[in-house]
Amino acid sequence: MTQAFDVVVVGAGMVGAALATGLGHEGLRVAMVDRAPVPGFDPEAAPDIRVSALSVGSERYLRTLGAWQHILEMRATPYQRLAVWDETRHPLGNLMPRTLTEVEFDATALGTSHLGHIVENSVTQQALWKTAEADPMVTVIAGHEVSTLEQTGQAVIVTLDSGKDLEAKLVIGADGAQSRIRDMAGIGVTRNQYGQQAMVISVRYQGPVENITWQGFHPTGPRAFLPLHSAGSDYPGESWGSLVWYDAPEELSRLKALTNEQLMAEIQKAFPSDLPLLTHIDVLASFPIARQHAKHYFANRVVLAGDSAHTINPLAGQGVNLGFQDAQYLQTILKEAKRAGDDLADPKWLDKYEQQRRPANRRMMLTMDLFYHLFSNRIPPVHLLRNLGLGAARALPFARNRVARYAMGIDEEMPAIVRQLTARLPGFNQL
Ligand SMILES: Cc1cc2nc3c(=O)[nH]c(=O)nc-3n(C[C@H](O)[C@H](O)[C@H](O)COP(=O)(O)OP(=O)(O)OC[C@H]3O[C@@H](n4cnc5c(N)ncnc54)[C@H](O)[C@@H]3O)c2cc1C
Repeated sequence: MTQAFDVVVVGAGMVGAALATGLGHEGLRVAMVDRAPVPGFDPEAAPDIRVSALSVGSERYLRTLGAWQHILEMRATPYQRLAVWDETRHPLGNLMPRTLTEVEFDATALGTSHLGHIVENSVTQQALWKTAEADPMVTVIAGHEVSTLEQTGQAVIVTLDSGKDLEAKLVIGADGAQSRIRDMAGIGVTRNQYGQQAMVISVRYQGPVENITWQGFHPTGPRAFLPLHSAGSDYPGESWGSLVWYDAPEELSRLKALTNEQLMAEIQKAFPSDLPLLTHIDVLASFPIARQHAKHYFANRVVLAGDSAHTINPLAGQGVNLGFQDAQYLQTILKEAKRAGDDLADPKWLDKYEQQRRPANRRMMLTMDLFYHLFSNRIPPVHLLRNLGLGAARALPFARNRVARYAMGIDEEMPAIVRQLTARLPGFNQL
């Protein structure tokens, strides 16, 4: 049996579920398909290992979709401060003590109540599934994969592993970094695997919920702390947190083989002294990290959004924030196409989407690359240069705050200086 829709969204992670909800709100008939079952939430359970720093811009978008309230009803941790510093031990480092080169952003100085929220990915996803399910224009199909995708002149037909056919004008591939929809549409990627991987560790620590997230840069990779919610009455006086330890895959394999007690000792040795006293390691997992960019954002009746279109180094926590920006813009474009009475897959509209989003995503990818190479480096002049950079950022609060307001999504307009600088980065036009 064939069911007809305007749009089929394949992959209902954070980005796909946001798009399905937004397009439903615009009056389009949407099928939202995910191979995973409907996500659940247990307020008593330990946090999901996957957490994301959601920017103020993402919060704004999730509010318009009606999902932010659901997130707050489950759990989300606002942070008011964000600090970064260089942890490399080097004789030249003594020229600039940490107090001079640490850059701290404070919500008050940026004229906002908070800089962002740390939210478990499953919480964001579940909130968006709720809003999608509540919209009569959206049909949620959980627990099924796409087997084939056939494009004709007038439509695209998606066949699910259940044998069911879904016909639509447009398929959105939001099925993540390993996107099958991207492959089925014949869209290739450029990919650059970093030498580091990211190990995420869910921990409990002694003390109230911290209002700061921080990252110390070591030559082997950054080490970061993200605060989560209170651990509740079962563990009075304790809170949950998430640690991210970037390092070579071999070093992370060694760490993963340790007992919790041994790992705790390694963390205490390796992490900056700012880390609160840990009481428990709950779970850990490591993730390969790669910069990956689809060669095209659309082909015929298929368009990509989120990680299926691009992945970046997570060191500044921008991946899903970029994905939400894709979703928001694609939604606007498809609304205009509908209003104009055009085919939703008209290349005129899809090209507009790519022209807007590709340079923005590319800019962020290259900025992360710059950070990665600058900080994973022990060469004395580079060390001095980055410390001078951090020192300058500290000394120039106006410029720093303008960039920070943009990076955190408080301002929507990118400062001209950042646009000009990133456009000069090598490889800008090749990505
Ligand atoms: C260590 C780490 C830390 C990060 N921290 C941050 C952060 O702080 N802030 C931030 O903004 N980003 C962060 N990111 C990036 C962020 O996690 C991703 O950008 C985000 O998850 C991408 O969302 P997505 O919806 O595009 O894809 P995904 O989350 O990958 O979702 C894809 C969905 O598609 C479904 N699917 C896949 N294949 C199929 C198929 N064949 N058929 C049907 N369904 C399918 C999956 O079940 C899934 O639900 C981090 C990433 C890592 C690795």
